[in-house]
Amino acid sequence: MRDKTRCSDEEERKKRRRVTARAYYLANREAVIRRTTAHRKRNPARANELKRLARKANPEGNKAAAKRWAFAARTRPHRRMARLIRFAQERAIAKGLPIDAAYLREWLRVPAEQCPCCGKPFVYELGYQPHAPSLDRIRPMNGYVKGNVDLLCRRCNTLKNDATPDELEQVADYLRRILLAAPQQQ
Ligand SMILES: [Zn+2]
Repeated sequence: MRDKTRCSDEEERKKRRRVTARAYYLANREAVIRRTTAHRKRNPARANELKRLARKANPEGNKAAAKRWAFAARTRPHRRMARLIRFAQERAIAKGLPIDAAYLREWLRVPAEQCPCCGKPFVYELGYQPHAPSLDRIRPMNGYVKGNVDLLCRRCNTLKNDATPDELEQVADYLRRILLAAPQQQ
C-alpha cells in the first residue's frame, strides 16, 4: 500500500518535471540547442550512448513524422518535379519507351509557372488538382527525351491524350453541334 502511494507520487513528480522541462525548452529553445550541441561535441561517446538509448526506447523513431513531412513536401515544386520524373521512369519501363532522366532533371530544375496550353498557373496543392503540372510526351511513342516533352496541366494533358489536331477539331466541332441542339436546362 505504502509502496504504491510512493510510486504514484514518484510518477506525479516525474510528470511535473517533464512538463516543466518542456516549458523551459520552448521558452529557451535556441539556448538549449546551443548548449546541447556544444555538450555533444565535448562528449561524443555519451552523445552516442544517449542516441542508442533513445532508439531503443522508440524503435519506430519518428517514421510517422517523416511520412507526414514527405507528404507535405509534395507541395514544393522541386519535390513534385522529382516525383514526376520518378513516375515517368516507371511508365517508360512499363511501356518500353526511351527516357533521358538526366535531361528531365536539368530541364525541370526551374519548372515553368503556367500551362503552355491553357495559360493557367500550375497548382501544387495536395489532392487531385486539374491544374497540377504533368509530363506530356509530344509524340507519345518517342518517350521522355529532349524535344519530345512538355509540362502541361493535368486537364490539358488528359483532354489531349494521344489525339491529333484533326481529331481534336473533330471533337470540338461535334461538341459545338450537339450543345447547340441540346436545350439548356433552366
Ligand atoms: Zn492547361
